[in-house]
Amino acid sequence: MMVSFVDLKARYFSIKDEIDSVIQQVIEDSAFIGGKYLKSFENNFASYCQAEHCVGVGNGTDALFLALKALGIGRGDEVITPANSFVATSEAITRAGAKVVFVDCDRRTYNIDVNLIESKITSCTKAIIPVHLYGQPADLVAIREIADQHKIYIVQDCAQAHGAAYAGKPLADYGDILCFSFYPGKNLGAYGDAGAIVTNNEELAIKIRMFANHGCKDKYAHEFEGVNSRMDGMQAAILDVKLKYLDKWIRVRQKAAHFYDEHLQGKIVVPHQDSLATHVYHLYVIQTENRGELQIGLKERGIATGIHYPIPLPMLDAYSYLGHVEDDFPVTCNLASRILSLPMHGSITDQEVEYVTETISRLVPELLMDRI
Ligand SMILES: *Cc1c(COP(=O)(O)O)cnc(C)c1O
Repeated sequence: MMVSFVDLKARYFSIKDEIDSVIQQVIEDSAFIGGKYLKSFENNFASYCQAEHCVGVGNGTDALFLALKALGIGRGDEVITPANSFVATSEAITRAGAKVVFVDCDRRTYNIDVNLIESKITSCTKAIIPVHLYGQPADLVAIREIADQHKIYIVQDCAQAHGAAYAGKPLADYGDILCFSFYPGKNLGAYGDAGAIVTNNEELAIKIRMFANHGCKDKYAHEFEGVNSRMDGMQAAILDVKLKYLDKWIRVRQKAAHFYDEHLQGKIVVPHQDSLATHVYHLYVIQTENRGELQIGLKERGIATGIHYPIPLPMLDAYSYLGHVEDDFPVTCNLASRILSLPMHGSITDQEVEYVTETISRLVPELLMDRI
């Protein structure tokens, strides 16, 4: 049996007629940039997030950059973010001109350790970018409290967390700006690059829309210099179709995660779910001592896995200028050699999940024996 890590083809074929027909419509209407398909998706995605405003942009990395720019963050400012994320999060900070300040993660949730944030706040700190890693929201109650106390902004990296919630409330309730990616493999994925920002702050939404469109509201009346980072009409139309199915696909992910939990508990370390978090399982990440051998064993048996992420951000060559050592981020650095992401997607079947758990249950004792 082959179990793929994500399954973009099965996803397409399950809604092929609808997708093909909207693509045709966008072309017939020449609604390539801006237009009714974009407006419709922006409205629907804002409602889905229970927020006032959504602005479609070029990709998730740009969404983070545009959010920081709209908040006036730049040279001389510092922005706090977790040591374990995809590099896009910290790249956006540098691109805005600010300094990246990394914080270690919590050993159970893999999210930013909220107890370490305050020790990193200085008079230059302007924002925190929590990453809702693997689909589980960071502790937004604590982060909101810290942000209010120190009068700093929260830019939420929601690239892996479409549909997630915290303490029964939508992520948008915790402010200030939410940044989404619709990279094809994300829980809600486009057929190319796309991203969005979501906020309840109208002024910020207007600024971001202008900044993403060369600094203008009205054509050729450029109020300042911006960039070109817009969502295509075609991607918006595709996303609008897929958005209707998102909750159903999330339920498939959650069901698979619960099955993994139940059958792998005690054999490897299963992900910890924060009791206040609605986890949407973009990734299902286990921990094991024998990560390398387990990954090879699974591959030989047709099961694809991934590592998210193999090198903690502060340890990347890109950040060698910060002069960090592993001891600065003991939890993240320890996890990096132990984590393994199992197959997880919105059309994963019961048979696939069973095959993965059975294979791991058989392999793990064998690997332990090899060690002795
Ligand atoms: C995917 C991702 C991004 C970047 O999104 P793109 O659309 O690929 O630019 C940012 N942050 C995290 C945590 C991501 O997983």
